[in-house]
Amino acid sequence: MTTPTLDNFWMPFTPNRAFKAKPKLLTSAKDMHYTDVDGRQILDATAGLWCVNAGHGRAKITEAIQKQAAIMDFAPTFNMAHPLAFEFAHKLAGIMPGDLKKIFYTNSGSESADTALKIALAYQRTRGHASKTRLIGRERAYHGTGFGGISVGGIVRNRMYFGSLLTGVDHLPHTHDPELNAFSKGIPEHGADLADTLERLVALHDASTIAAVIVEPVAGSTGVLVPPKGYLQRLRSLCDKHDILLIFDEVITGFGRLGAAFGADYFGVTPDILCMAKGITNACVPMGAVAVSNRIYDTFMQTADAPIELFHGYTYSGHPLACAAGIATLEVYAEEDLFNRANTMAPYWQEAVHALRDAPHVIDIRNLGLIGGIELESRPGAPTARALEVFDRCFDKGLLIRVTGDIIALSPPLILEKAHIDQMVETIRAALKETA
Ligand code: PMP
Repeated sequence: MTTPTLDNFWMPFTPNRAFKAKPKLLTSAKDMHYTDVDGRQILDATAGLWCVNAGHGRAKITEAIQKQAAIMDFAPTFNMAHPLAFEFAHKLAGIMPGDLKKIFYTNSGSESADTALKIALAYQRTRGHASKTRLIGRERAYHGTGFGGISVGGIVRNRMYFGSLLTGVDHLPHTHDPELNAFSKGIPEHGADLADTLERLVALHDASTIAAVIVEPVAGSTGVLVPPKGYLQRLRSLCDKHDILLIFDEVITGFGRLGAAFGADYFGVTPDILCMAKGITNACVPMGAVAVSNRIYDTFMQTADAPIELFHGYTYSGHPLACAAGIATLEVYAEEDLFNRANTMAPYWQEAVHALRDAPHVIDIRNLGLIGGIELESRPGAPTARALEVFDRCFDKGLLIRVTGDIIALSPPLILEKAHIDQMVETIRAALKETA
């Protein structure tokens, strides 16, 4: 295949100048592998972008999309709808934790995060607590790129260029303690008390001004930060104590990544609102969703002061192709018991990833379910350069990894076998050895 002109596509979250000097173009994908423009097989250690949980090119899903495209390409869900939107919401509700049984559709993780924040604010106002407008996020959090998401998110470069963000936002400290919890296997021991910072924010602002706290159960995009033992439980009980909503952003941790349908199930902590995307359609059609508790939904239905209970939505909320893909995806997950797959593979995964402890430049390793984070010592004066070099070297050796800062983040499709894990680890080891 010939390389197309590279002049016009402004690539997202990419060093465009460097990419265009040495492009990496993927042209097809099947199961655990991509094929690149030169016909090379590239093992996928990132499930695309934390999203192709059932592996690539699943016939059941692509056939469902093709069939639906031929039947009905699009139908609005404002003031009318189509049966698949209800059917998929019902099926999703069947796997949601607790009483999170009402589903609002979006098109991405960013839209899910912003939708969740808006529902939280509108809920407080609708039930007569209009002063509860403050939102609390966390340092080193990623909630997508909308203005809500970057405001509660905690990544400096995602925030610093974009002027005034949402007002009335505070951040809890992140949960990573590189000294006490270095090279933790699974859930780290120390740091549950970091949740208590919420008490300080309540003392400062008063609970009557705080609408919601939003966290990722495991922060992925900032380098795999696994919450300390008991942390999420503590956050839940503090939110209950102060009548503050708890939102989980499960865009990464949803759909089997940790060995349960959702992180909420894995940790045994149920939020009031839960954000999803990515694995919801196995990434075959862009889609996201927000699940809310029956209590929140019923409050809108019983007390909203206008016929439209929530002034929010997207043209493509519940797109027919996405719903068809989502229904087929849930079937694949169930038929192959994929939500359980991370449990089966996790012990081998953990030992394999931690075997890189003695590889050059490695200063920390973290893991949970089928996620792994390998933190590298930054080059003096050149943060991210080392990880980018490892990324390039791995790609040349036929392995797709993800790097964020100087951290390698791994999140393979859940269908992987032990031999794939061995290949991932050995390729990363070889790349690290070659890296100056
Ligand atoms: N929330 C979390 C936790 C994410 O990891 C991501 C994407 N990695 C998003 C939101 C944003 O999703 P999207 O890129 O689909 O907008």
